[in-house]
Amino acid sequence: YDYFAGKTALVTGAASGIGKAVAEQLAAEGANVVVADLKLEAAQAVADELVAAGGSAVAFAGDVSDPAVVKAAVDLAVERFGALHLAVNNAGIGGPQGALADYDDSDGFAAYHQLMGVNLHSVYYGLRYEIPEIVKAGGGAIVNMSSILGLVAEPTAAPYTTAKHGVTGMTKAAGATYASQGIRINSVHPGYIDTPLLSALPTDYKQVLISKHPAGRLGTADEVANVVLFLLSDKASFINGTQHVVDGGYTDI
Ligand code: NAD
Repeated sequence: YDYFAGKTALVTGAASGIGKAVAEQLAAEGANVVVADLKLEAAQAVADELVAAGGSAVAFAGDVSDPAVVKAAVDLAVERFGALHLAVNNAGIGGPQGALADYDDSDGFAAYHQLMGVNLHSVYYGLRYEIPEIVKAGGGAIVNMSSILGLVAEPTAAPYTTAKHGVTGMTKAAGATYASQGIRINSVHPGYIDTPLLSALPTDYKQVLISKHPAGRLGTADEVANVVLFLLSDKASFINGTQHVVDGGYTDI
Protein backbone atom coordinates (compact mmCIF):
# COMPACT_ATOMS: atom_id res chain seq x y z
CA TYR A 1 0.00 0.00 0.00
CA ASP A 2 2.70 2.49 -0.85
CA TYR A 3 2.26 3.17 -4.56
CA PHE A 4 2.36 6.95 -3.96
CA ALA A 5 4.87 6.90 -1.07
CA GLY A 6 7.03 10.04 -1.10
CA LYS A 7 4.55 11.91 -3.32
CA THR A 8 2.52 14.94 -2.25
CA ALA A 9 -0.96 15.56 -3.63
CA LEU A 10 -3.29 18.56 -3.45
CA VAL A 11 -6.98 17.63 -3.67
CA THR A 12 -9.58 20.43 -3.81
CA GLY A 13 -13.14 19.83 -2.66
CA ALA A 14 -11.69 17.00 -0.59
CA ALA A 15 -14.06 17.24 2.38
CA SER A 16 -16.90 15.42 0.63
CA GLY A 17 -17.94 13.05 -2.14
CA ILE A 18 -15.49 12.34 -4.97
CA GLY A 19 -12.68 14.51 -3.59
CA LYS A 20 -12.87 12.79 -0.22
CA ALA A 21 -12.71 9.35 -1.88
CA VAL A 22 -9.66 10.49 -3.89
CA ALA A 23 -7.97 11.82 -0.73
CA GLU A 24 -8.67 8.56 1.11
CA GLN A 25 -7.32 6.38 -1.71
CA LEU A 26 -4.20 8.55 -2.13
CA ALA A 27 -3.45 8.51 1.61
CA ALA A 28 -3.98 4.75 1.72
CA GLU A 29 -1.33 4.46 -1.02
CA GLY A 30 1.18 6.49 1.00
CA ALA A 31 0.82 10.00 -0.47
CA ASN A 32 0.97 13.15 1.65
CA VAL A 33 -2.41 14.77 1.04
CA VAL A 34 -3.49 18.41 1.31
CA VAL A 35 -7.22 18.18 2.00
CA ALA A 36 -8.44 21.52 0.60
CA ASP A 37 -12.05 22.62 0.90
CA LEU A 38 -14.27 25.62 1.48
CA LYS A 39 -15.39 24.06 4.76
CA LEU A 40 -12.64 24.11 7.40
CA GLU A 41 -14.25 21.77 9.93
CA ALA A 42 -15.13 19.16 7.32
CA ALA A 43 -11.64 19.36 5.74
CA GLN A 44 -10.04 19.02 9.18
CA ALA A 45 -12.24 16.00 9.96
CA VAL A 46 -11.14 14.27 6.73
CA ALA A 47 -7.46 15.07 7.39
CA ASP A 48 -7.81 13.73 10.95
CA GLU A 49 -9.44 10.57 9.61
CA LEU A 50 -6.59 10.02 7.14
CA VAL A 51 -3.96 10.52 9.84
CA ALA A 52 -5.83 8.21 12.23
CA ALA A 53 -5.75 5.54 9.51
CA GLY A 54 -1.95 5.86 9.35
CA GLY A 55 -1.75 8.37 6.49
CA SER A 56 -0.13 11.77 6.10
CA ALA A 57 -2.47 14.71 5.60
CA VAL A 58 -3.08 18.35 6.37
CA ALA A 59 -6.28 20.40 6.05
CA PHE A 60 -6.55 23.67 4.17
CA ALA A 61 -9.63 25.90 4.04
CA GLY A 62 -10.50 28.48 1.40
CA ASP A 63 -12.55 29.34 -1.66
CA VAL A 64 -10.84 28.06 -4.83
CA SER A 65 -12.55 30.68 -6.98
CA ASP A 66 -9.97 33.10 -5.49
CA PRO A 67 -6.53 32.67 -7.10
CA ALA A 68 -4.70 33.79 -3.94
CA VAL A 69 -6.40 30.96 -2.06
CA VAL A 70 -5.35 28.38 -4.63
CA LYS A 71 -1.77 29.69 -4.49
CA ALA A 72 -1.84 29.41 -0.70
CA ALA A 73 -2.96 25.77 -0.94
CA VAL A 74 -0.09 24.96 -3.31
CA ASP A 75 2.35 26.83 -1.04
CA LEU A 76 1.12 24.86 1.97
CA ALA A 77 1.80 21.56 0.15
CA VAL A 78 5.37 22.65 -0.61
CA GLU A 79 6.04 24.12 2.83
CA ARG A 80 4.66 21.17 4.72
CA PHE A 81 5.86 18.28 2.56
CA GLY A 82 8.75 19.74 0.53
CA ALA A 83 7.33 19.48 -3.00
CA LEU A 84 4.13 19.01 -5.01
CA HIS A 85 3.84 16.09 -7.44
CA LEU A 86 0.11 15.49 -7.93
CA ALA A 87 -3.05 17.62 -8.00
CA VAL A 88 -6.75 16.95 -8.39
CA ASN A 89 -8.74 20.09 -9.23
CA ASN A 90 -12.08 18.71 -8.12
CA ALA A 91 -14.04 21.33 -6.12
CA GLY A 92 -17.38 22.08 -7.73
CA ILE A 93 -20.98 23.10 -7.18
CA GLY A 94 -24.28 22.57 -8.98
CA GLY A 95 -25.63 25.50 -10.97
CA PRO A 96 -28.89 27.20 -11.85
CA GLN A 97 -31.52 24.83 -13.28
CA GLY A 98 -33.96 25.52 -16.09
CA ALA A 99 -33.96 27.22 -19.48
CA LEU A 100 -31.25 29.88 -19.47
CA ALA A 101 -33.34 32.79 -20.81
CA ASP A 102 -35.68 32.23 -17.86
CA TYR A 103 -33.03 32.95 -15.20
CA ASP A 104 -33.68 36.07 -13.20
CA ASP A 105 -31.28 38.91 -14.13
CA SER A 106 -29.82 39.63 -10.72
CA ASP A 107 -29.85 36.19 -9.09
CA GLY A 108 -29.30 34.39 -12.40
CA PHE A 109 -26.21 36.37 -13.39
CA ALA A 110 -24.79 36.09 -9.88
CA ALA A 111 -25.30 32.32 -9.87
CA TYR A 112 -23.75 32.04 -13.34
CA HIS A 113 -20.62 33.96 -12.31
CA GLN A 114 -20.29 32.03 -9.07
CA LEU A 115 -20.55 28.74 -10.97
CA MET A 116 -17.87 29.80 -13.46
CA GLY A 117 -15.60 30.88 -10.61
CA VAL A 118 -15.89 27.64 -8.67
CA ASN A 119 -16.19 25.10 -11.50
CA LEU A 120 -14.00 26.62 -14.23
CA HIS A 121 -11.75 29.51 -13.13
CA SER A 122 -10.55 27.52 -10.11
CA VAL A 123 -9.13 24.92 -12.51
CA TYR A 124 -7.17 27.62 -14.32
CA TYR A 125 -5.83 28.94 -11.01
CA GLY A 126 -4.93 25.39 -10.00
CA LEU A 127 -2.99 24.76 -13.20
CA ARG A 128 -1.33 28.19 -12.94
CA TYR A 129 0.18 27.47 -9.52
CA GLU A 130 0.48 23.67 -9.55
CA ILE A 131 2.38 23.28 -12.84
CA PRO A 132 5.52 25.28 -11.86
CA GLU A 133 5.82 23.36 -8.58
CA ILE A 134 5.35 19.99 -10.29
CA VAL A 135 8.03 20.93 -12.85
CA LYS A 136 10.35 21.83 -9.93
CA ALA A 137 9.60 18.45 -8.35
CA GLY A 138 10.72 16.68 -11.52
CA GLY A 139 7.31 15.87 -12.97
CA GLY A 140 3.94 14.48 -11.97
CA ALA A 141 0.30 14.49 -12.94
CA ILE A 142 -2.87 16.56 -12.63
CA VAL A 143 -6.51 15.47 -12.95
CA ASN A 144 -9.24 18.03 -13.55
CA MET A 145 -12.78 17.02 -12.58
CA SER A 146 -15.10 17.66 -15.48
CA SER A 147 -18.38 15.76 -15.99
CA ILE A 148 -20.31 13.98 -18.70
CA LEU A 149 -21.71 17.52 -19.06
CA GLY A 150 -18.22 18.48 -20.23
CA LEU A 151 -18.85 16.25 -23.25
CA VAL A 152 -22.62 16.35 -23.86
CA ALA A 153 -25.21 18.99 -22.97
CA GLU A 154 -27.86 19.03 -20.25
CA PRO A 155 -30.40 21.56 -21.58
CA THR A 156 -31.65 22.39 -18.09
CA ALA A 157 -28.14 23.18 -16.85
CA ALA A 158 -26.51 25.42 -19.45
CA PRO A 159 -24.07 27.20 -17.09
CA TYR A 160 -22.83 23.90 -15.57
CA THR A 161 -22.55 22.38 -19.07
CA THR A 162 -20.56 25.43 -20.19
CA ALA A 163 -18.18 25.38 -17.21
CA LYS A 164 -17.50 21.65 -17.56
CA HIS A 165 -16.89 21.93 -21.34
CA GLY A 166 -14.42 24.67 -20.41
CA VAL A 167 -12.60 22.28 -18.07
CA THR A 168 -12.41 19.75 -20.93
CA GLY A 169 -10.89 22.33 -23.31
CA MET A 170 -8.45 23.72 -20.76
CA THR A 171 -7.26 20.20 -19.98
CA LYS A 172 -6.65 19.46 -23.67
CA ALA A 173 -4.67 22.67 -24.12
CA ALA A 174 -2.65 22.33 -20.91
CA GLY A 175 -2.00 18.63 -21.52
CA ALA A 176 -0.54 19.42 -24.92
CA THR A 177 1.47 22.37 -23.61
CA TYR A 178 3.22 20.48 -20.83
CA ALA A 179 3.47 16.96 -22.27
CA SER A 180 7.18 17.46 -22.94
CA GLN A 181 7.88 18.65 -19.37
CA GLY A 182 6.99 15.51 -17.47
CA ILE A 183 3.49 16.59 -16.45
CA ARG A 184 0.42 14.70 -17.57
CA ILE A 185 -2.90 16.56 -17.34
CA ASN A 186 -6.18 14.72 -17.96
CA SER A 187 -9.88 15.17 -17.21
CA VAL A 188 -12.35 12.76 -15.63
CA HIS A 189 -16.03 12.83 -16.63
CA PRO A 190 -18.35 11.24 -14.09
CA GLY A 191 -21.96 10.41 -14.81
CA TYR A 192 -24.32 11.02 -11.88
CA ILE A 193 -22.55 9.93 -8.72
CA ASP A 194 -24.21 9.37 -5.37
CA THR A 195 -22.57 12.15 -3.35
CA PRO A 196 -23.91 14.98 -1.16
CA LEU A 197 -23.98 17.15 -4.34
CA LEU A 198 -27.04 15.18 -5.47
CA SER A 199 -28.74 15.10 -2.08
CA ALA A 200 -30.63 18.32 -2.84
CA LEU A 201 -32.41 16.64 -5.76
CA PRO A 202 -35.94 15.31 -5.25
CA THR A 203 -36.13 11.49 -5.01
CA ASP A 204 -38.24 11.15 -8.16
CA TYR A 205 -35.62 13.12 -10.14
CA LYS A 206 -32.95 10.76 -8.81
CA GLN A 207 -34.98 7.92 -10.35
CA VAL A 208 -34.95 9.76 -13.70
CA LEU A 209 -31.17 10.09 -13.46
CA ILE A 210 -30.76 6.42 -12.58
CA SER A 211 -32.83 5.48 -15.64
CA LYS A 212 -30.37 7.37 -17.88
CA HIS A 213 -27.53 5.07 -16.83
CA PRO A 214 -27.52 1.68 -18.58
CA ALA A 215 -25.79 0.35 -15.44
CA GLY A 216 -29.18 0.85 -13.70
CA ARG A 217 -27.78 2.84 -10.78
CA LEU A 218 -25.79 5.93 -9.88
CA GLY A 219 -22.02 5.63 -9.57
CA THR A 220 -20.06 5.74 -6.33
CA ALA A 221 -17.35 8.21 -5.36
CA ASP A 222 -14.83 5.37 -5.16
CA GLU A 223 -15.59 4.28 -8.73
CA VAL A 224 -14.55 7.77 -9.88
CA ALA A 225 -11.55 7.89 -7.52
CA ASN A 226 -10.27 4.58 -8.94
CA VAL A 227 -9.89 6.23 -12.35
CA VAL A 228 -8.35 9.39 -10.88
CA LEU A 229 -5.69 7.33 -9.10
CA PHE A 230 -4.92 5.40 -12.27
CA LEU A 231 -4.42 8.67 -14.18
CA LEU A 232 -2.18 10.04 -11.41
CA SER A 233 -0.07 6.89 -11.46
CA ASP A 234 2.84 6.00 -13.74
CA LYS A 235 0.63 3.25 -15.19
CA ALA A 236 -0.95 6.08 -17.22
CA SER A 237 2.46 7.29 -18.44
CA PHE A 238 1.42 7.81 -22.09
CA ILE A 239 -1.98 9.37 -21.38
CA ASN A 240 -2.08 13.15 -21.68
CA GLY A 241 -4.74 15.78 -22.36
CA THR A 242 -7.54 13.22 -22.70
CA GLN A 243 -11.05 12.63 -21.34
CA HIS A 244 -11.93 9.66 -19.12
CA VAL A 245 -15.61 8.85 -18.79
CA VAL A 246 -16.96 7.07 -15.69
CA ASP A 247 -20.68 6.98 -16.33
CA GLY A 248 -22.10 3.44 -16.38
CA GLY A 249 -22.81 3.89 -20.10
CA TYR A 250 -24.74 7.22 -19.89
CA THR A 251 -23.05 8.91 -22.85
CA ASP A 252 -23.21 5.80 -25.05
CA ILE A 253 -27.00 5.77 -25.54
P1 NAD B 1 -19.71 17.28 -3.11
O1 NAD B 1 -20.66 18.40 -2.92
O2 NAD B 1 -19.92 16.00 -2.39
O3 NAD B 1 -18.22 17.78 -2.79
C1 NAD B 1 -17.72 18.98 -3.32
C2 NAD B 1 -16.81 19.61 -2.30
O4 NAD B 1 -16.29 20.83 -2.89
C3 NAD B 1 -17.52 20.00 -1.00
O5 NAD B 1 -16.81 19.52 0.12
C4 NAD B 1 -17.53 21.52 -1.04
O6 NAD B 1 -17.43 22.13 0.26
C5 NAD B 1 -16.31 21.83 -1.88
N1 NAD B 1 -16.40 23.15 -2.48
C6 NAD B 1 -17.50 23.72 -3.05
N2 NAD B 1 -17.21 24.97 -3.43
C7 NAD B 1 -15.92 25.20 -3.10
C8 NAD B 1 -15.06 26.32 -3.22
N3 NAD B 1 -15.50 27.46 -3.75
N4 NAD B 1 -13.79 26.21 -2.76
C9 NAD B 1 -13.35 25.06 -2.21
N5 NAD B 1 -14.13 23.96 -2.06
C10 NAD B 1 -15.39 24.04 -2.49
O7 NAD B 1 -19.66 17.04 -4.69
P2 NAD B 1 -19.09 15.84 -5.59
O8 NAD B 1 -20.25 15.16 -6.18
O9 NAD B 1 -18.07 15.07 -4.85
O10 NAD B 1 -18.42 16.71 -6.74
C11 NAD B 1 -17.02 16.82 -6.92
C12 NAD B 1 -16.75 17.24 -8.36
O11 NAD B 1 -17.27 16.26 -9.24
C13 NAD B 1 -17.39 18.58 -8.76
O12 NAD B 1 -16.49 19.29 -9.59
C14 NAD B 1 -18.61 18.14 -9.54
O13 NAD B 1 -19.02 19.11 -10.47
C15 NAD B 1 -18.07 16.89 -10.21
N6 NAD B 1 -19.11 15.97 -10.66
C16 NAD B 1 -19.99 15.44 -9.80
C17 NAD B 1 -20.99 14.58 -10.27
C18 NAD B 1 -22.03 13.96 -9.37
O14 NAD B 1 -22.99 13.41 -9.90
N7 NAD B 1 -21.88 13.98 -8.06
C19 NAD B 1 -21.04 14.29 -11.64
C20 NAD B 1 -20.10 14.84 -12.49
C21 NAD B 1 -19.13 15.69 -11.99
